[in-house]
Amino acid sequence: MNFDQSNALFRRAAAVIPGGIYGHTTPAATIPGSVPYFAASGSGCRYTDVDGNTFIDFMGGYGPMILGYHHPEVEAAANAARQLGAAFNHPTSLLVELAEKLTQRIDFADWAVFAKNGADLTNWSIMVAREVTQRPKILKIRGAYHGTAAWCTPGHGGLIPSDRADIADFPFNDIPALEALFKTHRGQIAGLILTPFHHPAFADSVLPTPEFVAACNRLCREHGALQILDDVRCGFRLTTDGSHSLYGYKPDLAIYCKALANGHPISACVGRAPHKAAASRVFLTGSYWSDPAPMAAALATLDIIARDNIPQKLTALGERFVTGFLSLGQKHGIALVSSGPASMPYIRVADDPSFLRTQHLCASAVAQGVFLHPHHNWFISAAMTETDIDDALARLDRALSAPLP
Ligand code: PMP
Repeated sequence: MNFDQSNALFRRAAAVIPGGIYGHTTPAATIPGSVPYFAASGSGCRYTDVDGNTFIDFMGGYGPMILGYHHPEVEAAANAARQLGAAFNHPTSLLVELAEKLTQRIDFADWAVFAKNGADLTNWSIMVAREVTQRPKILKIRGAYHGTAAWCTPGHGGLIPSDRADIADFPFNDIPALEALFKTHRGQIAGLILTPFHHPAFADSVLPTPEFVAACNRLCREHGALQILDDVRCGFRLTTDGSHSLYGYKPDLAIYCKALANGHPISACVGRAPHKAAASRVFLTGSYWSDPAPMAAALATLDIIARDNIPQKLTALGERFVTGFLSLGQKHGIALVSSGPASMPYIRVADDPSFLRTQHLCASAVAQGVFLHPHHNWFISAAMTETDIDDALARLDRALSAPLP
């Protein structure tokens, strides 16, 4: 397997684009030359890079491709809407249909708004919390990702101290730390923003304890703060109706994005009736927000997720994959650590603080045609079959034979 075209394109990119490839798809944290840098096409649970190498894909575009590339029903719905036009002067009826679908599907949701990316609406949601409560402070989980805005970016460039002046963070599942923040900032807290489980980069995933979920629910209620569930990454993968229903969160607002439209650009924020008037006072717009094709794709994707119970399918496939992967580790004498739900697993080499051995393992997997990421959780695709999982495991058996540093 070679990556000559990828490398050549990357050299051209570095000349004209800051960082060459920026953001979460940057190759900076992988072993140079060990992974493809540019994609060419995809079908089902496989994609092909610009050198013609094909991979069984366990990242799915970092989450959006829940049903696989080129899902016929989703693409037909999006194409039909696309034929009618793109960015009109007005939304189409699909806007209303999609808002109705989400409010019917999600038990606490009385209204919905739409944008393009997850971060559009995590930003908007904290403004809604401030508008509702007329308070400044936002509590967030330390190390949780909510987007690229100054209040939450994991980056270091371009920040000034006042960006974070009203943000306080605490460790996931740490009830005393959360209680202490509510005490310290009594009367000042607008909202608590959470991901359903903790899925940081460069670390294991952590599921919430029932006690932590109960404390979040209780403290937000007692202090009149809004609970905001950032379900951008997990939403509609763990359940058909939002991840709060799996773990027992009682959110006031929730944001969905990645799995919502199987790769078409759209995000949604839903909320409760008492916050609707305040939400209408927080300005929200964008050049492309009313584009009907992603709304048609979202309607089709949501229908398929419910009709085929996709979360259950992803869990069954994920369990087969994780169990198989861990037993391959035992066979090859490599201690592996697995974390997160089976449908969004993350497996790394144990005793690997620098992630170097995990990077080598993922590079060996890529060389065998299985695309894994060394420090970000993975995503099972509903386009996979048990045969695809077994094919991936057979390839990983060969990958695990390669020596690790
Ligand atoms: N929240 C979470 C939990 C995410 O995983 C992401 C994207 N990785 C975002 C917010 C930001 O979404 P986007 O990149 O679409 O702006």
